[in-house]
Amino acid sequence: MSQLVFDIVSIFPGFFVGPFSHGIVHQAQKKQAIHLQVHDLRDFTTDRHKTVDDRPFGGGEGMVLKPEPIFRAVENIYSKIPREQGKIILLSPQGRKLCQPHIRHLSQSRQITLICGRYEGVDERVAEFLADDEISIGDYVLSGGELAACVLIDAVTRLIPGVLNNENSQVNESFENDFGATECPSRGVVLDFPQYTRPEVFAGRKVPELLLSGNHKKIRLWRRRKALEKTLKNRPDLLQYASLSEPDRQLLNHSLE
Ligand code: SAH
Repeated sequence: MSQLVFDIVSIFPGFFVGPFSHGIVHQAQKKQAIHLQVHDLRDFTTDRHKTVDDRPFGGGEGMVLKPEPIFRAVENIYSKIPREQGKIILLSPQGRKLCQPHIRHLSQSRQITLICGRYEGVDERVAEFLADDEISIGDYVLSGGELAACVLIDAVTRLIPGVLNNENSQVNESFENDFGATECPSRGVVLDFPQYTRPEVFAGRKVPELLLSGNHKKIRLWRRRKALEKTLKNRPDLLQYASLSEPDRQLLNHSLE
Protein backbone atom coordinates (compact mmCIF):
# COMPACT_ATOMS: atom_id res chain seq x y z
CA MET A 1 0.00 0.00 0.00
CA SER A 2 1.43 3.39 -0.92
CA GLN A 3 1.19 5.97 1.80
CA LEU A 4 -0.61 9.31 1.61
CA VAL A 5 1.19 11.99 3.62
CA PHE A 6 -0.75 14.98 4.96
CA ASP A 7 1.25 18.03 6.06
CA ILE A 8 -0.88 20.48 7.98
CA VAL A 9 0.15 24.09 8.63
CA SER A 10 -1.67 25.65 11.58
CA ILE A 11 -1.24 28.04 14.51
CA PHE A 12 -2.98 25.44 16.72
CA PRO A 13 -1.08 22.16 16.26
CA GLY A 14 -2.64 20.75 19.44
CA PHE A 15 -6.05 20.99 17.81
CA PHE A 16 -5.52 17.76 15.87
CA VAL A 17 -4.72 15.42 18.77
CA GLY A 18 -8.35 14.35 19.30
CA PRO A 19 -9.50 14.01 15.68
CA PHE A 20 -6.41 12.03 14.70
CA SER A 21 -6.57 9.53 17.53
CA HIS A 22 -9.97 7.98 16.87
CA GLY A 23 -11.66 5.66 14.43
CA ILE A 24 -10.68 5.23 10.81
CA VAL A 25 -8.09 8.03 10.75
CA HIS A 26 -6.37 6.48 13.76
CA GLN A 27 -6.42 2.99 12.25
CA ALA A 28 -5.17 4.26 8.90
CA GLN A 29 -2.11 5.69 10.62
CA LYS A 30 -1.47 2.39 12.36
CA LYS A 31 -1.74 0.60 9.01
CA GLN A 32 0.62 3.26 7.58
CA ALA A 33 -1.92 4.08 4.87
CA ILE A 34 -1.61 7.73 5.90
CA HIS A 35 1.00 9.75 7.73
CA LEU A 36 0.01 13.00 9.44
CA GLN A 37 2.49 15.78 10.18
CA VAL A 38 1.42 19.01 11.82
CA HIS A 39 3.61 22.09 11.41
CA ASP A 40 3.30 24.94 13.89
CA LEU A 41 3.15 28.14 11.86
CA ARG A 42 4.89 30.02 14.69
CA ASP A 43 8.02 27.91 14.14
CA PHE A 44 8.40 29.68 10.80
CA THR A 45 8.36 33.23 12.13
CA THR A 46 11.59 35.17 12.55
CA ASP A 47 10.72 37.76 15.20
CA ARG A 48 10.93 37.44 18.96
CA HIS A 49 7.15 37.49 19.40
CA LYS A 50 6.57 34.81 16.76
CA THR A 51 4.10 37.05 14.94
CA VAL A 52 1.84 35.24 12.46
CA ASP A 53 -0.74 37.97 11.79
CA ASP A 54 -1.03 41.66 11.03
CA ARG A 55 -3.66 44.32 10.33
CA PRO A 56 -5.29 44.38 6.89
CA PHE A 57 -4.10 46.91 4.34
CA GLY A 58 -6.94 49.23 3.43
CA GLY A 59 -8.38 49.06 6.93
CA GLY A 60 -11.15 47.01 8.42
CA GLU A 61 -11.78 44.65 11.27
CA GLY A 62 -9.57 41.86 12.54
CA MET A 63 -6.22 40.40 11.63
CA VAL A 64 -4.86 38.60 8.59
CA LEU A 65 -2.32 35.74 8.55
CA LYS A 66 0.97 37.04 7.12
CA PRO A 67 2.37 35.42 3.98
CA GLU A 68 6.05 34.94 4.99
CA PRO A 69 5.63 32.27 7.72
CA ILE A 70 3.22 30.31 5.50
CA PHE A 71 5.53 30.38 2.47
CA ARG A 72 8.43 29.37 4.74
CA ALA A 73 6.50 26.48 6.32
CA VAL A 74 5.52 25.15 2.89
CA GLU A 75 9.08 25.57 1.58
CA ASN A 76 10.27 23.50 4.53
CA ILE A 77 7.80 20.72 3.67
CA TYR A 78 9.03 20.56 0.06
CA SER A 79 12.68 20.65 1.04
CA LYS A 80 12.14 17.01 2.02
CA ILE A 81 9.98 15.77 -0.85
CA PRO A 82 9.75 16.81 -4.51
CA ARG A 83 7.25 19.62 -4.99
CA GLU A 84 5.59 17.88 -7.96
CA GLN A 85 4.65 14.93 -5.75
CA GLY A 86 2.41 17.10 -3.62
CA LYS A 87 -0.68 19.22 -3.70
CA ILE A 88 -1.02 22.47 -1.73
CA ILE A 89 -4.52 23.26 -0.54
CA LEU A 90 -5.65 26.42 1.21
CA LEU A 91 -8.79 25.89 3.28
CA SER A 92 -11.06 28.87 2.67
CA PRO A 93 -14.78 29.69 2.49
CA GLN A 94 -13.92 31.34 -0.82
CA GLY A 95 -12.71 28.05 -2.27
CA ARG A 96 -14.29 25.48 -4.56
CA LYS A 97 -16.82 23.50 -2.60
CA LEU A 98 -15.59 20.04 -1.64
CA CYS A 99 -17.60 17.05 -2.80
CA GLN A 100 -17.22 13.30 -3.13
CA PRO A 101 -15.70 13.02 -6.65
CA HIS A 102 -13.12 15.60 -5.61
CA ILE A 103 -12.39 13.62 -2.43
CA ARG A 104 -11.99 10.47 -4.50
CA HIS A 105 -9.50 12.22 -6.75
CA LEU A 106 -7.53 13.49 -3.74
CA SER A 107 -7.38 9.97 -2.27
CA GLN A 108 -5.06 9.03 -5.14
CA SER A 109 -2.46 11.64 -4.15
CA ARG A 110 0.91 10.92 -2.57
CA GLN A 111 1.12 14.04 -0.45
CA ILE A 112 -1.24 16.88 0.44
CA THR A 113 -0.35 20.10 2.26
CA LEU A 114 -3.25 21.77 4.06
CA ILE A 115 -2.96 25.42 5.06
CA CYS A 116 -5.34 26.43 7.85
CA GLY A 117 -6.37 30.06 8.05
CA ARG A 118 -7.58 31.94 11.15
CA TYR A 119 -8.93 35.38 12.04
CA GLU A 120 -10.09 37.34 8.95
CA GLY A 121 -8.27 34.92 6.69
CA VAL A 122 -4.95 34.61 4.90
CA ASP A 123 -2.97 37.12 2.83
CA GLU A 124 -4.29 36.62 -0.72
CA ARG A 125 -0.80 35.99 -2.10
CA VAL A 126 -0.98 32.53 -0.53
CA ALA A 127 -4.03 31.66 -2.65
CA GLU A 128 -2.55 33.33 -5.70
CA PHE A 129 1.07 32.22 -5.71
CA LEU A 130 1.44 29.26 -3.35
CA ALA A 131 -1.69 27.09 -3.22
CA ASP A 132 -2.66 24.76 -6.06
CA ASP A 133 -6.24 24.86 -4.92
CA GLU A 134 -8.54 26.75 -2.56
CA ILE A 135 -11.12 24.50 -0.97
CA SER A 136 -14.25 25.22 1.05
CA ILE A 137 -16.12 22.56 3.00
CA GLY A 138 -19.45 24.36 2.68
CA ASP A 139 -21.29 27.64 2.45
CA TYR A 140 -20.73 28.83 6.01
CA VAL A 141 -17.86 30.50 7.84
CA LEU A 142 -15.77 28.65 10.41
CA SER A 143 -13.39 30.38 12.79
CA GLY A 144 -10.43 28.43 11.43
CA GLY A 145 -9.27 26.01 8.76
CA GLU A 146 -8.40 23.24 11.24
CA LEU A 147 -11.87 21.67 11.32
CA ALA A 148 -12.06 21.91 7.54
CA ALA A 149 -8.68 20.13 7.30
CA CYS A 150 -9.98 17.37 9.60
CA VAL A 151 -13.09 16.97 7.44
CA LEU A 152 -11.01 16.64 4.27
CA ILE A 153 -8.53 14.22 5.87
CA ASP A 154 -11.33 12.03 7.26
CA ALA A 155 -13.23 11.85 3.98
CA VAL A 156 -10.09 11.19 1.90
CA THR A 157 -8.62 8.61 4.29
CA ARG A 158 -11.62 6.31 4.28
CA LEU A 159 -11.35 6.01 0.47
CA ILE A 160 -7.75 4.79 0.46
CA PRO A 161 -7.79 1.12 -0.54
CA GLY A 162 -7.32 -1.17 2.44
CA VAL A 163 -8.40 1.42 5.03
CA LEU A 164 -12.02 0.37 5.37
CA ASN A 165 -12.40 -3.30 6.18
CA ASN A 166 -15.40 -3.69 3.93
CA GLU A 167 -14.67 -2.02 0.59
CA ASN A 168 -18.24 -2.68 -0.50
CA SER A 169 -19.53 -0.41 2.20
CA GLN A 170 -18.43 2.53 0.03
CA VAL A 171 -20.27 1.55 -3.10
CA ASN A 172 -23.81 2.07 -1.88
CA GLU A 173 -23.24 5.21 0.09
CA SER A 174 -24.69 8.65 -0.25
CA PHE A 175 -22.93 10.51 -3.08
CA GLU A 176 -21.10 7.36 -4.20
CA ASN A 177 -23.70 5.17 -5.84
CA ASP A 178 -25.52 5.51 -9.04
CA PHE A 179 -24.85 7.31 -12.19
CA GLY A 180 -21.12 7.59 -11.70
CA ALA A 181 -21.01 11.29 -10.96
CA THR A 182 -17.48 12.53 -11.52
CA GLU A 183 -18.04 16.21 -11.12
CA CYS A 184 -18.67 18.66 -8.37
CA PRO A 185 -21.23 19.80 -7.40
CA SER A 186 -22.67 16.31 -6.99
CA ARG A 187 -25.56 15.83 -9.32
CA GLY A 188 -27.42 12.77 -10.35
CA VAL A 189 -26.46 10.87 -7.23
CA VAL A 190 -28.82 9.33 -4.74
CA LEU A 191 -28.50 9.38 -0.95
CA ASP A 192 -28.04 6.21 1.06
CA PHE A 193 -31.10 4.17 2.05
CA PRO A 194 -32.26 4.16 5.68
CA GLN A 195 -30.65 1.56 7.95
CA TYR A 196 -32.11 -0.22 10.95
CA THR A 197 -30.66 -2.48 13.62
CA ARG A 198 -31.90 -4.25 16.75
CA PRO A 199 -34.20 -3.99 18.64
CA GLU A 200 -36.98 -4.91 16.27
CA VAL A 201 -39.38 -2.77 18.27
CA PHE A 202 -38.09 0.37 19.94
CA ALA A 203 -40.40 2.63 21.96
CA GLY A 204 -43.33 1.09 20.14
CA ARG A 205 -41.78 1.78 16.71
CA LYS A 206 -41.29 -1.26 14.56
CA VAL A 207 -38.60 -1.85 11.96
CA PRO A 208 -40.11 -2.07 8.43
CA GLU A 209 -41.48 -5.60 8.15
CA LEU A 210 -39.94 -6.25 4.74
CA LEU A 211 -36.38 -6.03 6.11
CA LEU A 212 -37.08 -9.06 8.29
CA SER A 213 -38.50 -11.09 5.42
CA GLY A 214 -35.20 -12.45 4.07
CA ASN A 215 -36.47 -11.72 0.54
CA HIS A 216 -33.35 -10.08 -0.87
CA LYS A 217 -34.87 -9.01 -4.15
CA LYS A 218 -37.71 -7.21 -2.41
CA ILE A 219 -35.31 -5.71 0.11
CA ARG A 220 -33.13 -4.38 -2.70
CA LEU A 221 -36.13 -2.71 -4.39
CA TRP A 222 -37.41 -1.31 -1.10
CA ARG A 223 -34.01 0.18 -0.31
CA ARG A 224 -33.79 1.72 -3.76
CA ARG A 225 -37.23 3.26 -3.39
CA LYS A 226 -36.42 4.61 0.08
CA ALA A 227 -33.12 6.07 -1.18
CA LEU A 228 -34.94 7.81 -4.03
CA GLU A 229 -37.67 9.07 -1.69
CA LYS A 230 -35.18 10.42 0.80
CA THR A 231 -33.22 12.18 -1.92
CA LEU A 232 -36.41 13.71 -3.28
CA LYS A 233 -37.39 14.89 0.20
CA ASN A 234 -34.05 16.19 1.50
CA ARG A 235 -31.99 16.91 -1.61
CA PRO A 236 -34.21 17.38 -4.66
CA ASP A 237 -31.34 19.36 -6.22
CA LEU A 238 -29.41 16.09 -6.60
CA LEU A 239 -32.17 14.42 -8.60
CA GLN A 240 -32.75 17.37 -10.86
CA TYR A 241 -30.01 16.32 -13.26
CA ALA A 242 -30.25 12.57 -12.80
CA SER A 243 -31.09 10.38 -15.70
CA LEU A 244 -33.28 7.97 -13.78
CA SER A 245 -33.74 4.47 -15.12
CA GLU A 246 -37.22 3.27 -15.97
CA PRO A 247 -37.42 1.05 -12.85
CA ASP A 248 -36.31 4.05 -10.73
CA ARG A 249 -39.05 6.17 -12.29
CA GLN A 250 -41.61 3.52 -11.52
CA LEU A 251 -40.43 3.27 -7.91
CA LEU A 252 -40.63 7.03 -7.48
CA ASN A 253 -44.04 7.29 -9.13
CA HIS A 254 -45.21 4.49 -6.89
CA SER A 255 -44.17 6.38 -3.76
CA LEU A 256 -45.64 9.67 -5.00
CA GLU A 257 -49.04 8.10 -5.50
N1 SAH B 1 -13.05 36.61 6.18
C1 SAH B 1 -13.08 35.32 5.57
C2 SAH B 1 -13.36 34.24 6.57
C3 SAH B 1 -12.19 33.89 7.42
S1 SAH B 1 -12.56 32.58 8.49
C4 SAH B 1 -14.20 35.32 4.54
O1 SAH B 1 -15.25 35.89 4.81
O2 SAH B 1 -14.05 34.70 3.48
C5 SAH B 1 -10.96 32.06 9.01
C6 SAH B 1 -10.39 30.84 8.37
O3 SAH B 1 -11.24 29.73 8.61
C7 SAH B 1 -10.25 30.89 6.87
O4 SAH B 1 -9.04 31.51 6.50
C8 SAH B 1 -10.26 29.43 6.49
O5 SAH B 1 -8.99 28.83 6.60
C9 SAH B 1 -11.18 28.82 7.54
N2 SAH B 1 -12.55 28.60 7.04
C10 SAH B 1 -13.66 29.28 7.39
N3 SAH B 1 -14.75 28.82 6.76
C11 SAH B 1 -14.34 27.79 5.97
C12 SAH B 1 -14.99 26.91 5.05
N4 SAH B 1 -16.31 27.00 4.81
N5 SAH B 1 -14.24 25.99 4.42
C13 SAH B 1 -12.91 25.91 4.62
N6 SAH B 1 -12.24 26.72 5.48
C14 SAH B 1 -12.93 27.66 6.14
